[in-house]
Amino acid sequence: MLMKSTTPAQDSSDEGTPVSVKIRERLALARKRFNANDNISEFLQPGELEKLLDEVEVKMQGVLDSLVIDTVGDHNTNNTARRVAKMYLNEVFKGRYVQPPAITEFPNAEHLNELMIVGPITVRSACSHHFVPVIGKIWIGVMPNEHTNVIGLSKYARLAEWVMGRPQIQEEAVVQLADLIMEKTQPDGLAIVMEASHYCMAWRGVKDMDSKMINSVMRGVFLKDPTLRREFLALIPRKG
Ligand SMILES: [Zn+2]
Repeated sequence: MLMKSTTPAQDSSDEGTPVSVKIRERLALARKRFNANDNISEFLQPGELEKLLDEVEVKMQGVLDSLVIDTVGDHNTNNTARRVAKMYLNEVFKGRYVQPPAITEFPNAEHLNELMIVGPITVRSACSHHFVPVIGKIWIGVMPNEHTNVIGLSKYARLAEWVMGRPQIQEEAVVQLADLIMEKTQPDGLAIVMEASHYCMAWRGVKDMDSKMINSVMRGVFLKDPTLRREFLALIPRKG
């Protein structure tokens, strides 16, 4: 009679498994990296984002409890665990959990082959180290050829939003964005400059309100042609 309990117990043990554990198991099985700035949408099943929300809320409530905040008596923090969970999963780190934005690519019918610059595009992210905001701007330079796919200007902003909507490291973020734009449009060259304020330097740490980090990534002809690189850098209207 005791043996009988093992069969239903197997089902209910899966029921009790946190959804994050199930997702991790799939990632491990596929040997897929799941760093803070990786997108894991392929490994989420329908409805699991909602379950993750519940799970993060419970864990976030634990953080508030450990911070000795009276979330019952303090009406300001009554629902903070839920709000933070929603903010992470549905807003600021959404780029980890959702599929890339749908981008329609058109053949370059006009055979555009002149340097094109898009920007400044405002980007919002958070640093992987502290989970505090990184806010800045990017400029994108594209050198198309006759085989390049053309995408609408606003699509660059959508792609940037998807990549930046994860806990990021600025140097890695621009590389991820460059890889994505290269893959979608196949230009002869691509240049990206990002300039951002890191709130982990303003709000904490050295508490420097004005420091900004600037970095760039150059691909294709931008790497080979210093004149083109200079032209791009001269055309982006950066202010200190
Ligand atoms: Zn930081």
